[in-house]
Amino acid sequence: MNKIECINLCKSYFIDSNEIEVLKDINITISRGDLVAISGQSGAGKSTLLQIIASLDSQSSGSLIYDDKDSTTFKNNDLSKVRLNNFGFVYQFHHLLEDLNVLENILIPLEISNKSSNNSSVLDIIEEVGLTSRISHLPWKLSGGEKQRVAIARALVNKPNFIFLDEPTGNLDQKNAGIIQNLLLDISKRHNIALVTATHDNNFIKNFDKIYKIQNMNLAEV
Ligand code: ADP
Repeated sequence: MNKIECINLCKSYFIDSNEIEVLKDINITISRGDLVAISGQSGAGKSTLLQIIASLDSQSSGSLIYDDKDSTTFKNNDLSKVRLNNFGFVYQFHHLLEDLNVLENILIPLEISNKSSNNSSVLDIIEEVGLTSRISHLPWKLSGGEKQRVAIARALVNKPNFIFLDEPTGNLDQKNAGIIQNLLLDISKRHNIALVTATHDNNFIKNFDKIYKIQNMNLAEV
């Protein structure tokens, strides 16, 4: 996939019969290699927007277009394949499986997609994120920054074109946040992967070429 487009996208949640409007008429185009930052106060709708763009949640109205194809025309199973083959995800909390070692955690997306693991390319990714010496360690032996490196490697193994990041360094100290941010920016440049990032961190945001803010349910470029 090379392009994602949102056209007049709106999202409301309903609690009992009360409508809670979260996003209104969102328009954004994201292409491979783009660095897109989405800021906004807590509760503004950043995570909701990322979830919708990645088709993990659905919009209430408006269109989400993947490479000129409306997402509503995909069957559920096909959307799962789209996600698995094109998208990687990194969250504030790494969501590693504690009983699996570093390598096993990183291999999970390949197992889900029934792709045989090409050992050399997986090892290249592990080296790229700086975890070669940690490959057989369980998550509890790793620091916060190292756990986030595992999450990044796990996001990379299916060779995504877009990585969605929700406060990826929100749980790290400033020094480790900077190291992880540089790693992500470097990976994006080297592999032509778009980063679509919800973040408050101005040190990270300043590196992005498209900076948006959600305010009063609207998305505006800043
Ligand atoms: P942010 O990521 O900017 O902190 P969120 O996207 O998590 O904001 O949330 C935006 C708003 O939507 C918040 O008011 C939140 O309470 C509400 N919200 C999120 N998910 C749900 C849900 N499943 N049901 C009802 N309201 C929700």
